Amino acid sequence: MDYERVRAVDPAVADALTAEVDRQRETLEMIASENHVSRAVLEAQGSALTNKYAEGYPGERYYAGCEHADEVEELAIERAQELWGAEHVNVQPHSGTQANMGVYLAMLDPGDKVLSLELSHGGHLSHGHPANFTGKTYEVEQYEVDPETGYIDYEGLDALAREFQPDIIVSGYSAYPREVDWERIQETAEAVDAYHLADIAHITGLVAAGVHSSPVGVADFVTGSTHKTIRAGRGGIIMTSEEHASAVDAAVFPGAQGGPLMHNIAGKAVGFKEALEPEFTEYAERVVADAKALGERLQERGFSLVSGGTDTHLVLVDLRESHPDTTGGDAERALEQVGIILNKNTVPGETRSPFNPSGIRAGTPALAARGFDEDASREVADLIYRVVDNHDDTDVKAEVAEDVKALCADFPLYEE
Ligand SMILES: *Cc1c(COP(=O)(O)O)cnc(C)c1O
Repeated sequence: MDYERVRAVDPAVADALTAEVDRQRETLEMIASENHVSRAVLEAQGSALTNKYAEGYPGERYYAGCEHADEVEELAIERAQELWGAEHVNVQPHSGTQANMGVYLAMLDPGDKVLSLELSHGGHLSHGHPANFTGKTYEVEQYEVDPETGYIDYEGLDALAREFQPDIIVSGYSAYPREVDWERIQETAEAVDAYHLADIAHITGLVAAGVHSSPVGVADFVTGSTHKTIRAGRGGIIMTSEEHASAVDAAVFPGAQGGPLMHNIAGKAVGFKEALEPEFTEYAERVVADAKALGERLQERGFSLVSGGTDTHLVLVDLRESHPDTTGGDAERALEQVGIILNKNTVPGETRSPFNPSGIRAGTPALAARGFDEDASREVADLIYRVVDNHDDTDVKAEVAEDVKALCADFPLYEE
């Protein structure tokens, strides 16, 4: 990956691109929403399809010359249908947020009511945060996780829904380490005559591989990001039934977007093909096994995990008990210095500011993509412990930085 042609035109950008590849090779990527795609997906995303305008849908485009764009989009759709078992799929959303926008635009009017999980409890900006278009456009009420258990408070959600009478209930989360009971939320949605949007942005790959239960066929709409656990490159996706197909398609184009990013849709097609192979199931199983091994070792070291563990690809560490004087920001910075890249995160019952909250979120999708097994994940947990416990100690951090480099060398990335 030397970006020769970029270098000939623009050495400054070429330097940044090669430095970024090296950064990814030489650090432990533990941001739970990130991953490493294959070289095949990278190549498809960097293809000449970036030149093509293909407004509309396969067979019904507004421009000439779309025959290959049609092929690629049809392949992406067919493979998604096979992966998730959805009746209707729209692969055009530029991102997960725009996939959600497509559903809202299709089904809601301004001022309609949205019931979603509170951001600091694991929700997402696009579920109704005041700074997001959703918070400005709709009337939003939010449910929470149970403060004792860290699990979704399904009873509280149900009671709130009956009182608030939402038009749509949003499930699916950004920082929730447990399986979601889609059926239970669907029962509530049906009881109050609301639509149910299950946003599986983080767990698309886990659901596709069958290592997390699927909301497809349960909720009315399922949205996702294609660059998180599914490893198909940056973008979004919407799945629904035939009943809502035309409303969703019209909401994405021309409702919310113009021309689709056809090069990214090519990346989705290739990534979905990879995800249909048996190796992908092994990958998804490894993601969860690694997260469990990581979480258990962190607990052995004294850390407190929100919900007491994980069923998924991530752990959420609440630092308040084990390290009351260390903020999520302190931990994130110290870990970044040694090459462990993760993010500070709010925790349920947050007592600090969202800019410097009390937790850190750590995910295993990118580590598992480069082959990390449970033993290696336990080693990573030990390194995290040493750094957080000694976040001001430069000698300790220098030692851990060497261990991180050695681990990266054991599990190489983008070798050729
Ligand atoms: C990551 C995420 C999204 C979408 O993010 P984009 O950055 O817009 O792709 C949507 N919903 C949830 C729950 C997420 O975690």
